[in-house]
Parts: sequence; C-alpha cells; structure tokens
Amino acid sequence: MTPDDVTAATSARRDEIATGLRLARERVAAAEIDAGRPPGSVGLVVVTKTFPVADVQVLAELGVTHVGENRDQEAAPKAVTLAELGAADLTWHFIGQLQTNKARSVATYAGVVESVDRPRLATALDRAAGIAGVELPCLIQVSLDDEPGRGGAEPDAVPALADAIAGSAHLLLRGVMAVAPMPGDPDLAFGRLASIAERLRSQHPDATTVSAGMSGDLEAAVRHGATHVRLGSAILGYRPPVR
Ligand SMILES: *Cc1c(COP(=O)(O)O)cnc(C)c1O
Repeated sequence: MTPDDVTAATSARRDEIATGLRLARERVAAAEIDAGRPPGSVGLVVVTKTFPVADVQVLAELGVTHVGENRDQEAAPKAVTLAELGAADLTWHFIGQLQTNKARSVATYAGVVESVDRPRLATALDRAAGIAGVELPCLIQVSLDDEPGRGGAEPDAVPALADAIAGSAHLLLRGVMAVAPMPGDPDLAFGRLASIAERLRSQHPDATTVSAGMSGDLEAAVRHGATHVRLGSAILGYRPPVR
C-alpha cells in the first residue's frame, strides 16, 4: 500500500469519527470524575484494527497520537503508509497475540508492545529491538479468565516474566495490559489486575502503566486505576467480527 492507493475519507466519515472521538473523550472524562481521579489522567489509545488507513489519517488530524493494532500483517503496512502520509506523531501500540516470527517486523514500527505474555516472546522481541536499534517499551498481558489459550500470562507467571523483560538489553518494562473476560464482572477482573499491577510496581517501580478498558467496560477500568483505555468501536463504529 502506498499513499497513492489511499482514498481520503469522505466528509461524512470525518464527521462521524470526530463525533465518536468527542463522545469517547467525554465518556473518559466523566469516568475520571466518577472515580475521583484527576482530569486528563487516563490516556486514550484508539484501536484502528480492520479500519482503513484513511480513518487513521483522520484520527491523526483530530489530534490522536496513540493507535492500537492487533495483527502484524495489517499493522505493518498501515504504519508505513501513515508515516509516508506525514502522520509522524503516531505511536503504534501492538495489542494482539504475537508469534515470535513476527517480532522482527513489529519492532520496526511499534512504539509499545502491550501483549508480551511469555519469556520466549520477550527473547524474540529483545533480539528484534536490538536489530532495529530501538529500546522497545513492553507491557505484560495478564490473563484474567483462568482459561489458557486466549493470550496473556497467568498471574502467577508475571513476576518471572517481568524479571525477564526488565533484564533484557533492548526492552523496557512499563506495566500490564488485560482484557476483561466476557461474560464476567469487569470490576472483579480489573480489581484483580490492579492488585497484580501493584505487586509488579513493588518490584519494578517504573512499571506504572495499566492498559485496561475497552468500549464496553472503560468505566470499570478507570475505577480500578487504568492509565489508558483502548477504544475501537466506541469511536470508529461497528467492526465486523474477525474470522
Ligand atoms: C479490539 C480490541 C480493543 C478495542 O475493542 P472495542 O470493543 O472496539 O473498544 C481493545 N483491546 C484489544 C486487545 C482489542 O483486541
């Protein structure tokens, strides 16, 4: 995909995205107030998976600086195209399950990998970051549903994984990320995440990021200390289910 292939968003789509973004920011601001947290203390990552480059361009023009993607095959060409279009201020958060053979690619464009969930992946990312000549901020994705296989480290495995990341030459341990199990009580899940995050900080004081909350449950995440939320459909609209 080159910039020439990108069809600019229609003005109707621009309006739709601007409205979605404004409403989402209002929702986050209200959640901060309800949780007794300082205004502006919760960051926003707009999850752009499945949406076209033109939408990301509109987001960048509207002042969005953090975007999230969950598949390398999709994210890599989007990141390159947006850079060529001049959207240089975007930080790309990789938020999906990641195979070790994709680490090389991800390290070339990701500003944060939020989904580090096993030591082998940390090793691959460390090597990839070294080759790319970057220091790569990482979050540990924690599994909150006691059901293996959907990505995320078991809570018991977090301390050892944290030590592995922190001890890597080219990785920076920044905190945790989680998805609340569905169905389930998001307050329970994010409460659990908060205590895992607190334990992590006692060993790794710089690991202060808590990435939690999506379009359906951001209020619960903000109540339990999320430092940024990851919103897709609330801003960009309906996303056809993948697979
Ligand atoms: C898709 C996705 C989101 C955004 O979900 P919405 O419900 O559209 O807000 C957030 N986090 C992860 C890990 C995702 O895969």
